[in-house]
Amino acid sequence: MRQLYIDGQWVDADSDEGIDVVSPIDGEVIDTIPAANDRDVGKAVVAAREAERELREMTAFERAAVLDEVTDYFEEHEDEIAELITREEGKPLHESYEETEYVISSSDDYAHDGIRLFGDVVPSEHRGRFAYTQREPYGPCAVISPWNFPLEVPGGSIYSAIATANPVVFKPAEETPLTAYHIAKAFDQSSLPDGAFNLVTGAGDTGASLVADEDIRLIAFTGSTAVGQEIAKVAAERNAQCLLEMGGKDPILVLDDADVDHAAESIVVGSNWNAGQVCCGTERVIATEGVHDALAEAVVEKTRELVVGDPLEEGTDVGPMVSERIQRKAVDHVEAAVGEGATLLTGGETDGLYYTPAVLDDVTESMEVAREETFGPVTPIIRARDYDEAIEIANRSRYGLQAAIFTDSLARAHDAANRLKAGGVFVNETNNYWERLLPFGGYGESGSGGRYGSKWHLESMTQVKAVMMNYRDY
Ligand code: NAD
Repeated sequence: MRQLYIDGQWVDADSDEGIDVVSPIDGEVIDTIPAANDRDVGKAVVAAREAERELREMTAFERAAVLDEVTDYFEEHEDEIAELITREEGKPLHESYEETEYVISSSDDYAHDGIRLFGDVVPSEHRGRFAYTQREPYGPCAVISPWNFPLEVPGGSIYSAIATANPVVFKPAEETPLTAYHIAKAFDQSSLPDGAFNLVTGAGDTGASLVADEDIRLIAFTGSTAVGQEIAKVAAERNAQCLLEMGGKDPILVLDDADVDHAAESIVVGSNWNAGQVCCGTERVIATEGVHDALAEAVVEKTRELVVGDPLEEGTDVGPMVSERIQRKAVDHVEAAVGEGATLLTGGETDGLYYTPAVLDDVTESMEVAREETFGPVTPIIRARDYDEAIEIANRSRYGLQAAIFTDSLARAHDAANRLKAGGVFVNETNNYWERLLPFGGYGESGSGGRYGSKWHLESMTQVKAVMMNYRDY
């Protein structure tokens, strides 16, 4: 049984209840983690609270130096971490390396943008007064993360929290907690004060204890919309700040004047990267009449070329899905859609947790596969009469993470960038897209409370204080 990391020490959990970590590759139990209870969580939060002052007294340069030390650890252990991500999550090894590379390269942004998180000198409306603003931390921060990016998703929030002096209690997903031990080891070997980073493992009830702790002032949650909304309710009772990044049902619109081959290529990547288990995965394709048939054919052809298999093998494009629960939803969505008149053009077969990428045509908006997050390697194609109807269909969703449009018309591209209700819009590029200096986050029920990514993330984890000095009238 693994341990918890609290107040700079590796400690046994209060109870000996454990959770097995099962590799989706072959069903092997690869480790067991403690299920931290209220008492463990309470200790971790006390440690974070007690570290708050020391962390704030460090200069931003000193905190940036800690993040550099942590990144050095990730660089030194990159091969080990990438392989572990694949073993516990199931994504192909080359995708795990994309994840480690992203964290290593973006750490500089968090560390060094943190130093540059200046306030403003504000012209006072009165004589003899000097006014300015400064950005300050909220206080102890719960970082709660999902299983699909065990390093990258918590990494951004943890880097941002430490850069801006919010001490952290980190609760990773129960499906993929082992990568989190590398994060804890990296901080353990750094010069961060004890208690400023803590790791508690467990399932949803451990996360719920953390959210309920009244000393937690900031919650950086990434996960499903249902859980995020539950957390927001609990946090609202004591007005704790929430940064929520949640689910999506993201569309790619393809217009008659699009480059069909390029659009199809981008759709297939968008729907099937990490076996479709990405918050901004391509979950709906909306094709206008004139392009529909050619696009469907090209998407099917490219989908059939994907190699499904062992994610540790070179050449694999799609590994297993993470668990039966997650696979079940994708299977149910496809079966229900076919039952309601959709046409399965390819794929949709299961072999254990492996699922052959599916392409569905004749999908209508009333089908679950067109409304609710599927989170699997499934491409539903919806037909639209024209451009305006394509935009209307795209926007008729409670989600709004990222959208994309394929067109040759500059005017349409600009118009769509304005009209699509999403936190990010990409033109002639997959919607399953992110890069270091762009903000990442959702509209509607996909997110709230700020944005992930470089300076946006840092700003979301700080509050603004106004300071005024009267240097004359006393
Ligand atoms: P999930 O909501 O089931 O779990 C996420 C985390 O919350 C886990 O650590 C879990 O243990 C914890 N948790 C569960 N119940 C809790 C509770 N009541 N209180 C506190 N914590 C609780 O999500 P998941 O299945 O791990 O991940 C998949 C979801 O994450 C998808 O919906 C996906 O779209 C979303 N996601 C969003 C983003 C984004 O940036 N928007 C990124 C990755 C994943």
